[in-house]
Amino acid sequence: MSGTPGEALADALGALGATLRYYRDLGLTELPLGEDLLQGPAEALRTQERNLQGCPRCKLCDGRTTIVFGSGNPKADLVVIGEGPGAEEDQQGKPFVGRAGQLLTKMLESVQISRDEVYITNTVKCRPPGNRNPEGDELAACAPFLAAQLGIIQPKVILALGSVATQALLKTKEPIGKLRGRVHLYGSLVLIPTFHPAFLLRNPGQDYKRMAWDDLKLAKREYDRRRTS
Ligand code: URA
Repeated sequence: MSGTPGEALADALGALGATLRYYRDLGLTELPLGEDLLQGPAEALRTQERNLQGCPRCKLCDGRTTIVFGSGNPKADLVVIGEGPGAEEDQQGKPFVGRAGQLLTKMLESVQISRDEVYITNTVKCRPPGNRNPEGDELAACAPFLAAQLGIIQPKVILALGSVATQALLKTKEPIGKLRGRVHLYGSLVLIPTFHPAFLLRNPGQDYKRMAWDDLKLAKREYDRRRTS
């Protein structure tokens, strides 16, 4: 941030311009943000999370304990997007802290990416009852908040975990087995789909593990190529 008020304003307007261009590239036609447009990413994420408290926009609010907004580096070049909070996440208010989360940490570490350097969130921020898949109306209700998170963080790469997140983001019904293994364009960034760690825990065979490993190497390659820090 620069010294004089004029320089500070120029910086803020420059950041605002970058954010608006980012939204345009994501294909957004309405601004999902309010007062946080002129804030830094950490503060803007806190504002978003605060604004979401008590959210009644879909039926998932009936069964949730906490809203699991997301956690990690507010300036991450890599954002990991899962499906929705499970029981453990619903209790703790943090994404991927249960068994699937432990596997996710190991998956990232296997390609020398630490949890601290990325940002982790989900397509829906409230736990679907019995861990069922989020439904279309629930995904739609939460989509502006995910878009706002991406607009604030402005990552270069998205790692999408499982069919629900990948299909919602890419707006397709193609199965994850067909979507994974390649790089997809997502606005001005790239999206790499892979199997959800919970799926890998349920299906411990070597084949899925090998495919997930290939996807992670692909994500790491794109991350190394595009990262700014
Ligand atoms: N599964 C998800 O998709 N997200 C979490 O946060 C935890 C488990």
